[in-house]
Amino acid sequence: MAKKKNNNKIINIRFNFMWIWGAIVAIIVAYSFFGTGRSEPVAGDWNTVEQMIRNGEVERIKVVNKNTALVYLTDDAIKSYRNGDENSRFKNIPEHGEQLNFTIGSVDILDRDVKEAIADSGLEENPLTVEYFNETTSWSDMLINFLPWLFLIGIWFFFIRSMSRGAGGAGGNIMNVGKARAQEFDKDNPNKRVTFKDVAGLAEAKVEIMEIVDFLRKADKYRELGAKIPKGALLVGPPGTGKTLLAKAVAGEANVPFLSISGSDFVEMFVGVGASRVRDLFEQAKQKAPCIVFIDEIDAIGRARGKNAGFSGNDERENTLNQLLTEMDGFQTNTGVIVLAATNRADILDKALMRAGRFDRQIDVGLPDVKEREEIFNVHLRHIKLDNNIDRTFLAKQTPGFSGADIANVCNEAALIAARNDKKVVERDDFMAAIDRIVGGLEKRNKTMSQAERRATAIHEAGHATVMWMLEDCDPVLKVTVIPRGNSLGATWSVPDEERVHVTNEVLEAKLAGMLGGRIAEEVNYGTLGAGALSDLERSTKITYAMVAFYGMSKKIGPISYYDSAGTRDTFTKPFSEQTAIAIDGEVRRILEEAYARAREIIEANNDKINQMADMLLDKETIYSEDIESILGPSAQSKKEAEEKKAESSQTTEQTTTENTNPKNE
Ligand code: ATP
Repeated sequence: MAKKKNNNKIINIRFNFMWIWGAIVAIIVAYSFFGTGRSEPVAGDWNTVEQMIRNGEVERIKVVNKNTALVYLTDDAIKSYRNGDENSRFKNIPEHGEQLNFTIGSVDILDRDVKEAIADSGLEENPLTVEYFNETTSWSDMLINFLPWLFLIGIWFFFIRSMSRGAGGAGGNIMNVGKARAQEFDKDNPNKRVTFKDVAGLAEAKVEIMEIVDFLRKADKYRELGAKIPKGALLVGPPGTGKTLLAKAVAGEANVPFLSISGSDFVEMFVGVGASRVRDLFEQAKQKAPCIVFIDEIDAIGRARGKNAGFSGNDERENTLNQLLTEMDGFQTNTGVIVLAATNRADILDKALMRAGRFDRQIDVGLPDVKEREEIFNVHLRHIKLDNNIDRTFLAKQTPGFSGADIANVCNEAALIAARNDKKVVERDDFMAAIDRIVGGLEKRNKTMSQAERRATAIHEAGHATVMWMLEDCDPVLKVTVIPRGNSLGATWSVPDEERVHVTNEVLEAKLAGMLGGRIAEEVNYGTLGAGALSDLERSTKITYAMVAFYGMSKKIGPISYYDSAGTRDTFTKPFSEQTAIAIDGEVRRILEEAYARAREIIEANNDKINQMADMLLDKETIYSEDIESILGPSAQSKKEAEEKKAESSQTTEQTTTENTNPKNE
């Protein structure tokens, strides 16, 4: 069936500033074409005009710019020509203005000829006068003269408009440049409304933040006891952990006005604008008090002052920050306004901003743990059509180190993958593919690799997996793959131990051995050193440097940390002496060599199994912990776990026996 034509098309014509320019140009062009509506003078020549002068019909000759003569006839002559012969070319001469024009060769000759013609006319009183003018009245000339100006004015307007659109916000007026573009949250809009139900996990953060809302709503309760209402709270955490989402939920749940603005909205190319916007923001907030102001990405203005002095842009940012400091806790108190702010980098914020009295509270919004990840999955899987046997706990376990935003992305990516494969529901495999894709990048199955190269990759990955499997301090291996993704040819995945809050030198040393395992397996099997281990080497060297210079894990260097949390130190000078630098290098080398020896021992002892695993990898491309277990037996971590459980249960039996025997003894 042919598609029905939509005749009721609504033509949505919106006013555009450029229309005014278009109209002006159109008027100018039209005027130059059609003039004032007068009829045009007739093109004449000197002979005709001479005859008219002799007849006493010419009243005035106006010579313009020494080259054009405009001829004005007497009223009687005009009348007689207009009423005269139908075929005469002067029948339609204009009634007003000049009636004829002609081009002259020279003014002197014209002057002489006119005088002769007057004399020839024989009239006693010839009315003719000759006037000379210099004129540039033609519209096209004017247009040409004005065009550069119009052009410049146009460009000027364009710049002013785009600057004020970027700056002034509402109204797009340059005068609004100093106004803050804070958005007031419309909590009655059901499409935009976010509630705490949409924010999974973050239990402590929610409690803290709701308490702040409570301060505003029941301020008197606190004041009666003499407590001061906090001025602000800073949400700190890695990207994508839900800081903005939490703030949106506060806006949705709190029954107070909520103004939201981003730190970068204060930044403008004009000097003084940032400070004026801060002032304006607080002015707006005070009018709405009690209310909450939310500044997202506050590090855009709140960076510590005094660094990089000398760059002019810095002064402007400092002024903005100073204004913020004054507004938050200055001479004029802003009662009833609580400032919430979010940042990824609390370490670079100015100390004055962080002190009590400004941001009294710092709320940590960290990466979610396994339980929180499960809750986040629950939130984001609400709208996705799922296969019945999707285990959310399993998904949460597969996504260690993922932020809320990553999890939202996994859910969406899984749905996209399922749709691409024409599935009706999203299955577990789609989630696994989505996770792999997010961590490793796009699969590059078509990457051309020889069989020997593929085997070397398989041996490399099997080496990592074996060492990690055999060391109880390593994270449990989840799967090993030789599917190329992004820049890597293969990968060994492990699940970080969730309960491990305290990282010891033993854990890091085991990790180093695991990282070096790949390269050693290649070395043992092929006797060559591959360049493919670059990222392993880089990461392990970095970790070792951190162990020695930051965590004080080397006995030789001692309990000293050269870590610079504030990032104030320049990169050219070292905070230690040349001797210490040599000692640090020595310690790094020692630790790495020890890890290397440890890994090599494991690999040499299990090389036949590594080859077996490599064969399996070449066959299956991806193998899981069950497959590894079938080759290597139970992992060191599971053995340790089993032992711990055994010890625990024997302890509890001992306790129960004692408890049971006690009453008997009594
Ligand atoms: P950034 O610091 O980069 O601005 P952020 O911490 O402000 O990041 P949000 O913008 O709040 O991160 O989160 C991004 C998205 O991640 C949210 O829109 C939401 O879909 C998802 N998300 C993050 N955390 C959670 C959570 N706890 N529960 C549900 N969804 C979450």
